[in-house]
Amino acid sequence: MDPAETNFTGHRASKRRLPRSFKELTPTRAFSPRTYFREMVWKPLMTRRRGRHKQPLFPHPRAGQVGLTWIGHSSFLVQLAACNLLIDPIFSNWLFVVKRQKHPGLRLKDIPNPDIVLITHAHFDHFHKPTLRRLPSNRIAIVPWGVGELAQGLGFDRILELEWWESYTRGDLRITFTPAKHWGARMISDHHRGYGGFVIEFQGRKIYHAGDSAYFDGFRQIGDKLAPEIALLPIGASHPESFRKVHMGPEDAVRAFKELRSHWLVPMHYGTFRLAFEDIDEPPRRLADLAAHAGLSKQLLILEEGVPVLL
Ligand SMILES: [Zn+2]
Ligand SMILES: [Zn+2]
Repeated sequence: MDPAETNFTGHRASKRRLPRSFKELTPTRAFSPRTYFREMVWKPLMTRRRGRHKQPLFPHPRAGQVGLTWIGHSSFLVQLAACNLLIDPIFSNWLFVVKRQKHPGLRLKDIPNPDIVLITHAHFDHFHKPTLRRLPSNRIAIVPWGVGELAQGLGFDRILELEWWESYTRGDLRITFTPAKHWGARMISDHHRGYGGFVIEFQGRKIYHAGDSAYFDGFRQIGDKLAPEIALLPIGASHPESFRKVHMGPEDAVRAFKELRSHWLVPMHYGTFRLAFEDIDEPPRRLADLAAHAGLSKQLLILEEGVPVLL
């Protein structure tokens, strides 16, 4: 292991027991078991899966360049001159009984070997064990506090847990775990597990993956402390209104983006699994309208699954 590799402790995160579980989201009339089954399970089941696996045409980033590929949902491949990072990979066609609505943009076997895998929290659409098991070995996992035990036995050489504001550094690479407004329990009562986002810094470039989060004033703080340039922000699973206690909609993402003062806004967490009641294509449409209204169209980068961009 590189001797320059360190894992230094920043401020210990206060483990606020923020949103606790799905059950705690205000029940709405729409949220009856029957409606849930019809909207999340039955309708997607009856809908043909769209999209296709793209041919793997990855860039070879030179010093100071970032290759960014959206795979679908919150899964991204980040390519830097020194290494490949995979974030929240999920390649499966099903999330339990919920059918994936669009194929992953790439086949898992076509992904360049990741050196580091980042997991933002233990929810099944982000920490997907069957996908992680299929990755080649010899890699490091970086996960929130309380999530490391879940990553045992999945082929990782090393598993590192981070608290909010803690960083992992190796040479020029620094990865900082950032706060979010969400919750970490994978099942029901395992609230000791953390959740958050990551800022990846390498040779002056800074990429922020927010994980899952509601809007909160932490975005301003992340902007002040780390000034990320490329912001990957979730925009889906935010309807009805009560879901916005734990997720962002397009309005929230625009507000967060302004407070982060980033240059690129890349939306995610939409279009793949139907996890809430909005139309699956609505979030990016709405985001594009809002961005146009706010004069941010040139900074909005709506990616197509499996098509890399070099930034
Ligand atoms: Zn989540
Ligand atoms: Zn999620």
